[in-house]
Amino acid sequence: MKYIFVLFLFLSLYLEADYIAGVSRVKITPQYSVYLAGLGNNRKSEGVHDDIYATALYLSDGKTRLVILSLDLIGLFYEDIEKARKEAGRKNSLQSTDIIIACSHLHSGPDTLGLWGPNEFTSGVEEKYLQFVQQKIVEAIDIAIKSAKPATLKVGQTTNSEVAYNSRDENLLDPTVTMLFVEDKNGKSIANIVNYACHPEVLWSDNKLITSDFVHYLRELTEREIGGVTLFLNGALGGMVTPKVKEHTFAEAKRIGENLGQSILKAKESQEKIEKTKIIHRVIKIKLPVENPKFLLAAQLEIMKRNMEGQAVDSEMHFLDIGGKLQILTNPGEALPKVGLALKSLLSTPYKMVIGLACDEIGYILPEEYFATQIYAYESSMSLGPKTAKILLQAGKRLLK
Ligand SMILES: [Zn+2]
Repeated sequence: MKYIFVLFLFLSLYLEADYIAGVSRVKITPQYSVYLAGLGNNRKSEGVHDDIYATALYLSDGKTRLVILSLDLIGLFYEDIEKARKEAGRKNSLQSTDIIIACSHLHSGPDTLGLWGPNEFTSGVEEKYLQFVQQKIVEAIDIAIKSAKPATLKVGQTTNSEVAYNSRDENLLDPTVTMLFVEDKNGKSIANIVNYACHPEVLWSDNKLITSDFVHYLRELTEREIGGVTLFLNGALGGMVTPKVKEHTFAEAKRIGENLGQSILKAKESQEKIEKTKIIHRVIKIKLPVENPKFLLAAQLEIMKRNMEGQAVDSEMHFLDIGGKLQILTNPGEALPKVGLALKSLLSTPYKMVIGLACDEIGYILPEEYFATQIYAYESSMSLGPKTAKILLQAGKRLLK
């Protein structure tokens, strides 16, 4: 009888165990003019429309601890991410692989990869800015961990076909908006994670102001209506999932951001609580061959400062299962919708996320058969090569085993 009582006590404690969560938001706006990344060479910023940020969520089930960061940047190379993660990990007793850093792929922010300098042969990266970002990542992780408290997790899902379209193949798109809502024990919002695929490029090459594009308006609306901080995590946005706009203006960025924001409010109405407190987190290190001579040359000339020794790059992928309700797979670049959908099909929970530009930016990730086609010539020229997609899918399968 005594044992049954102990067992009952243990079970009830187990069932009532909480998630633990903390958030932070740290400004990463450069205080000087920088080369703007994403659309063409020699675009120097002439001011700031809205600040850009590193937003972090610390999450734990009491055993597994992890941090997810969303950065308003075009992307960061694995080596630069690793530097920041190691430093943050040392301070907080975390492995660097406990930290997932994803970029929104912003096209009106500083060049952090090197491809958009004054000309094709000169890097646009301001070294002091890159170091500043690394410090701010460490700061964001510290604050998020220090602010941790018991939390409840809820998931929501809807679709939005009004915001994004695939300019290469109109019939191929994943319009799913998947949400993870994090609340404290009083039901007050801590964080809202949004996973949706779309290039933040409403503002175009004529814009010289730093802005997080539609993500800025999406955050404004959702944080006002729901509370907490919103982390935008891009999906399979490659070749070429782009905003459906009439013109490249801030008014259109607002319309797009708020339209997606409304979808999130809709997803919240039918949100479901994650009852089970358990996080499974697995990581896999991968080596990807670099078959693109343009990338090899850019690395050799130090336009792109990343290690391509042996004509390959190191990278990694993550798998998360949160309470058996939400599964997440990350990929290190810009997967095309077909690759994104293939990765998503590996997941088995009712709610699924495929997060792009996570822990790396390797360029576009195309299905092998697209390399022979003219329509994907640009994406092919900005990719490692035809083998990447298959390697990522194999790694995804291994993570799920
Ligand atoms: Zn892109």
